[in-house]
Amino acid sequence: MSLNPHRKFWRTIGFRLTFWYFTLFILSSAFLFVLTYFLLSSRLRTQDHQTIEIKLNELKAVYKMDGFEALKREVDVDKKFGKSNPYFIRIAGPQGKTLFLILPYQWVKFHLKSLENIKPGEGTTWTYLPLEDHGNELEIASISLSGDFFLQVGKSNEERNRVLQHFRQIFMFITAPLVLLGFAGGALVAFRALRPVRSLIQIVRAIDLGEMNAHVPRSYTGDELDELVTLFNRMLRRIASLIKGMKDSLENVAHDLRTPLTRLRTTAEMALQDKPTAASLKEALSDCLEESELILRMLNTLMDISEAETGTINLERKSVSVSSLINQVVDIYAYIAEEKNIRVQTQFPEDLHFSVDPNRIRQVLANLLDNAIKFTPDGGSVELEAEKRDNRVLFTINDTGCGIHHDDLPHIWDRLYRSDRSRSEKGLGLGLSLVKAIVMAHEGSVDVTSEPGKGSKFVISLPAEK
Ligand code: ADP
Repeated sequence: MSLNPHRKFWRTIGFRLTFWYFTLFILSSAFLFVLTYFLLSSRLRTQDHQTIEIKLNELKAVYKMDGFEALKREVDVDKKFGKSNPYFIRIAGPQGKTLFLILPYQWVKFHLKSLENIKPGEGTTWTYLPLEDHGNELEIASISLSGDFFLQVGKSNEERNRVLQHFRQIFMFITAPLVLLGFAGGALVAFRALRPVRSLIQIVRAIDLGEMNAHVPRSYTGDELDELVTLFNRMLRRIASLIKGMKDSLENVAHDLRTPLTRLRTTAEMALQDKPTAASLKEALSDCLEESELILRMLNTLMDISEAETGTINLERKSVSVSSLINQVVDIYAYIAEEKNIRVQTQFPEDLHFSVDPNRIRQVLANLLDNAIKFTPDGGSVELEAEKRDNRVLFTINDTGCGIHHDDLPHIWDRLYRSDRSRSEKGLGLGLSLVKAIVMAHEGSVDVTSEPGKGSKFVISLPAEK
């Protein structure tokens, strides 16, 4: 059954496979027939010729030993007792004149005259005279006797032709159903083998019509088509998850931006409602500017998170040293830490390198260090350490800050989540979401332990080699 009604039947792979299989089968059968027929027919012919030659030599030996009369006697004896296996025997004298002739009645209708012109040479000379029945021939071997005499012994090839005809009939009898069976078998095999391809076409059609959750049923045979189906299904799942991710991201971004945008609009409306003075308008404008900057920052961060979460982020991996990353991040926060009188200590091996997107991992470390300093009271301390363990690079950020309440702990990685206790601090509630999304995109993992009032410990684990 063709899935595309416009596709010609003979254009289908199934038909072409069957056709080639069938053609190959016919050709092999024909080759087998020709070869076997040729071998069999030449073998039978050699056998017939050998029989005739044995008879010829036998009679020649008799002639040599006891002369012409003994030869005639021998032939007469043959004539009497050898009816079941008749031979044509002729003894010719000078000028080819027939002196003696045994001609079995079955073969009488041939031109005996043509035999008179034969002059055998040194060895055996073969002559083939057509008989009038069904294209058979009389095969005659001639040999010289002493003087001008010569002896001819022959036999019809009728028996041989009968065997060969029988062979042809048997071959046809066996081959004809075999060919039909081969054709039907080939068509069935091609049809079954192409079943996954037909399913694939059907599913692609369904996807084309908007059915994004469709998948191709597997055959579990472990063959190439089964592998193709598995890969195809995996690709479908990936596409579906990307589309879902994009849809979710769009909804999240729209939802997350609604509040600051409403705030922006309210600020502008309020400024216009009351009798506006130049000073109040200026203040409102400055609030709007601040709000729009916040929205822009949020939008950028939300887009980054979405990209990292859906796997569409473009990571520019390169080999970087852990020490340079840590030093750069610590430098950025040195001033703020100093202002709060917070001691930032670092510890890391100098020669540790790994393959990551340096800008993104710098963003991760900066967010964690920013939080650690932000949530640690004046005079506290923050430790930023890195080490290599089991083919992974571990970053640990320890602080002696306020810690995270165990109710908040499961939510801190959520978008826009900010614990009530941290509302006094600046922030969007997006930092840790971005950290997690970037680390996951690098095939890493994040972990946090915290004791309220004592401090927090964030651990980032990233693959050392990629
Ligand atoms: P933001 O810092 O902008 O509020 P984050 O996503 O970075 O947002 O953090 C989410 C919340 O997790 C914070 O509001 C805070 O309550 C908590 N948090 C994160 N890091 C720390 C830390 N080092 N110490 C205490 N609380 C933290």
